[in-house]
Amino acid sequence: MLEPISQDLQPFNTLGLASFASRYVRLQSVGDLPALSRLVRQETQPVVVLGGGSNVVLPERLDALVIHVANQGCRVVHSASDHVLVQVQAGHGWHAFVLHAVAQGWHGLENLALIPGTVGAAPVQNIGAYGTEVARHVHSVVAWNFPDQRLHELQSDECGFGYRDSLFKRARPGDWLIVAVRFRLQTLWQPVLAYPDLQRHPLVANAGQALTADQVVQAVCDIRRAKLPDPAVLGNAGSFFKNPVVDTQQLHTLRQRYPDIVAYAQPEGRYKLAAGWLIDQAGWKGRRMGPVGVHDRQALVLVHHGGGNAAAVAALSRAIQEDIFRRFGVVLEQEPVNVTG
Ligand SMILES: Cc1cc2nc3c(=O)[nH]c(=O)nc-3n(C[C@H](O)[C@H](O)[C@H](O)COP(=O)(O)OP(=O)(O)OC[C@H]3O[C@@H](n4cnc5c(N)ncnc54)[C@H](O)[C@@H]3O)c2cc1C
Repeated sequence: MLEPISQDLQPFNTLGLASFASRYVRLQSVGDLPALSRLVRQETQPVVVLGGGSNVVLPERLDALVIHVANQGCRVVHSASDHVLVQVQAGHGWHAFVLHAVAQGWHGLENLALIPGTVGAAPVQNIGAYGTEVARHVHSVVAWNFPDQRLHELQSDECGFGYRDSLFKRARPGDWLIVAVRFRLQTLWQPVLAYPDLQRHPLVANAGQALTADQVVQAVCDIRRAKLPDPAVLGNAGSFFKNPVVDTQQLHTLRQRYPDIVAYAQPEGRYKLAAGWLIDQAGWKGRRMGPVGVHDRQALVLVHHGGGNAAAVAALSRAIQEDIFRRFGVVLEQEPVNVTG
């Protein structure tokens, strides 16, 4: 039986913002979907889907029905000589699943180790790190659609995946609830080592041809722990801005003024600028605005020192966006979702 309760959401968001939901339910099992759908049909307030809370900015008061996705589990749907098809429940921890996959000899997700959050949220912004994105390994997404009250299985090419983007991120909040994700993982180990930090890590640099998937996971975890603040110690939501994409002409103009600007070539004559470099150049690294600030080691990460709220985060985010636009003529797009209700 799903009975909404009021709930303190501070423990459920990695920024650690004070937030209180008027109505909250936990989805423990797919079997509860019809009852949940009935609840949503009768609901007069907006619907908010919450996973691990590591990519959201929550308001102090959330007058909404918050559905906390917590169904767990993983099963092999099909296995072949060179790959395996695995279905993982949406509430399963992402990093726990990556470790499980590596232990089983299923490959592809190693570079995405230690990203906080749940499996169900991974396709929402097409999580990516160290030269790979989850979309490359998603076979399909099993999702409940509240407007038509049906379970859909969307194939990877139907999910509208882009850079930190998908149709789920663009959809009206509360329309889709991802119930499970099916991954197609390789049984043949082929490391992805394009990212310079990874190539330089001693475990990788010294292993040569004998490099194992475990070692890559270990290297990725080491790099992430050195670069990113641990949300359990300092509230944050990871990278706060997407890397902006510009065309050749814009890059040429910027290079004339800033010869050191960091840019990565993309298809079709486009370039991804390192948002962290722009923010660092503008002098924001380590700066504070009251209870929130910019991390002192990673300019792309906004941090919450305590006692802050969504308005403080929004004020800092806006101040950075305006400054970057004034200096570089580049629009910074926020990565975490501003939840409203
Ligand atoms: C320290 C740190 C490092 C990070 N590093 C990375 C990184 O390297 N790469 C990267 O891509 N991201 C990174 N992130 C961001 C974040 O971890 C990911 O976006 C993650 O997938 C969010 O998962 P979550 O379960 O916490 O989602 P939440 O924050 O709970 O939700 C995020 C969005 O997804 C929606 N959502 C969540 N679950 C579901 C579901 N089951 N069905 C439908 N919608 C759902 C929510 O409504 C919300 O819009 C980092 C965050 C932190 C704090």
